[in-house]
Amino acid sequence: MTGERGLINRGLTNGGLVNGGPVNRGLVNGGLVNSGLVNRVLDFSLVDGPGNRLVIFVQGCNFDCIACHNPYTIDVCDSCGGCVEPCPDEALSLTFDRGTPEVVVDRNVCTECDVCIEVCPINSTPLARRMEVSALLQRIGSVAPFISGITVSGGEATRQADFVVDLFSAVKSTPGLDRLTTMVDTNGSADRATWDRLAPVMDGAMVDLKALDPELHLRMTGQDNAPVLESIRHLAAIGKLYEVRLLMVPGHNDSAETVKRTAEWLLAVDPDMRVKLIGFRRHGVRPHHAHIAEAEPEHLAILERTLRAVGLSGVVVV
Ligand code: SF4
Ligand code: SF4
Repeated sequence: MTGERGLINRGLTNGGLVNGGPVNRGLVNGGLVNSGLVNRVLDFSLVDGPGNRLVIFVQGCNFDCIACHNPYTIDVCDSCGGCVEPCPDEALSLTFDRGTPEVVVDRNVCTECDVCIEVCPINSTPLARRMEVSALLQRIGSVAPFISGITVSGGEATRQADFVVDLFSAVKSTPGLDRLTTMVDTNGSADRATWDRLAPVMDGAMVDLKALDPELHLRMTGQDNAPVLESIRHLAAIGKLYEVRLLMVPGHNDSAETVKRTAEWLLAVDPDMRVKLIGFRRHGVRPHHAHIAEAEPEHLAILERTLRAVGLSGVVVV
């Protein structure tokens, strides 16, 4: 099969991704080549930051959120080969050309049916691929007249911070692209040093806050929320916090009292903070979380009033 190379990262589990993550660096023609592990690129989006934006969804996340709409971006494929036979279009093959198992994808044959994701024991995908900054610049350039910026989402953007820094730096230094804004959509788990590396080339971050209460946050994401709260404080202090996103998951974090406490905490950080209230939808979530009820517009309206009553004025509901 003549497909392009798939993933070659056996042993690079989610827990093995560190800030700066799965990034290849090398010198080609005297220049720095940097690449990231990318799940997909969306040329146009109106929901991933201000204006019309190209969005790069990276693969790999350190949270395991019950309400994740892109759960196949959480873990990184370990080339176990389990999806090769089930693929109905024979788009996958397992090679050992480099001495280790490697899933190869023929993208000319793949029909994006998602069977590989359904059968994957870790709910990952063989379709994520390593993309170089130069290739992404070309893609961005092809739609630049129609967009106002780019967003790196995920997965978790800051797990591949070196890649994001190089991508944003390249955008900012390329004539014709330098007017584009650069943003990340993040779970907020990055440390201060990572944000300070991103800050010179990042226009803003959109931070998810799943819960203010640490125990509730742990139940909803599998992780402590102390780094998230610190990220919100730090990004606000350095003028790089675009918005905080509150995903309302019925029966978990959507009581008026819970939202009121969260609003009071956010208000203390920045009274002018932009807050986006998002109602949970089942689309895309894993089957074992599909029993969770969807957010009702009437209840979201009550929560919006709760946020405003506390003193937050920059509230948006979607
Ligand atoms: S999306 Fe479908 S066709 Fe493509 S590799 Fe996966 S199983 Fe095969
Ligand atoms: S089943 Fe999952 S982990 Fe195994 S090769 Fe396919 S995508 Fe990768």
